[in-house]
Amino acid sequence: MTKIGIVGCDGRMGQMLVREVLDTEGLALAGGVERAESDAVGRDLGELVGRGRNGLAVGIDSKTLFELADAVIDFTAPAAAVEHARLAAETRTALVVGTTGLTAEQEVALREASARTAVVWAPNMSVGVNILLSLVEQVAASLDAATYDIEIVEMHHRHKVDAPSGTALGLGRAAAKGRGVRLEEVWCKARDGHTGARQSGEIGFATLRGGDVVGDHTVVFAADGERIEIAHKASSRQIFAKGAVRAARWAHGKPPGLYTMRDVLGLG
Ligand code: NAD
Repeated sequence: MTKIGIVGCDGRMGQMLVREVLDTEGLALAGGVERAESDAVGRDLGELVGRGRNGLAVGIDSKTLFELADAVIDFTAPAAAVEHARLAAETRTALVVGTTGLTAEQEVALREASARTAVVWAPNMSVGVNILLSLVEQVAASLDAATYDIEIVEMHHRHKVDAPSGTALGLGRAAAKGRGVRLEEVWCKARDGHTGARQSGEIGFATLRGGDVVGDHTVVFAADGERIEIAHKASSRQIFAKGAVRAARWAHGKPPGLYTMRDVLGLG
């Protein structure tokens, strides 16, 4: 039995992850923790996710959870993910991070933790998006940057706090890699007002927010007279939860290192 801990267990993703662990054969729930201010603290974890009492109460002691678990899954917030990476390194527990919106410094903290334990970090844990990443890199590599403009459009639910989404940035990074450039040198993350004409070689982003959209991403390669669009639409968060749980199981027992979902899925 692989023991999985969930930090942020009362979140939209956290609850789904608890259910996914309970429903997966060969896995046991090590426990779940939340912020001290959360109403979920002290409640039964099984009841919290609508699965009936299971005797584990939602706690606030992340360190003990890391000591108990073989792998911990984090879908929380950037500052919390950094603290959890530190605990994973200290306790040598495998960590799966799905949290997005990390700053460059916060990303360094994940890299540092991965020197001491296995860390799987992916802005999108679904199989489909990870296939999309490979496709986008391939298409970008085969199209001339001066002829094909790359634009990435994403839409998410009204509660999402970071923009562009981690997945959109990941798709941008894959396109930039295909073109042999660094995304940070060519990105245009938003446009407003009199921006002037589009720069050749730019990779542009557009962000939509509204309703309960789980996550839509389209990569557009636009030339004179034609365009190619490659899209992925998520209609259930379960694809992310399933991917994260698969990653946690995969990471347990792996040597220290920073892994992506493409490693977990064997996509190279
Ligand atoms: P949410 O706000 O519903 O849930 C976050 C939970 O984390 C909350 O319950 C919050 O109380 C808890 N939390 C925050 N700080 C904590 C701490 N220090 N200790 C313990 N718990 C803490 O958000 P969500 O929609 O579940 O998304 C969470 C993150 O996951 C976001 O960054 C989102 O972009 C990302 N996400 C990633 C994927 C993916 O596949 N990688 C998919 C969906 C969402």
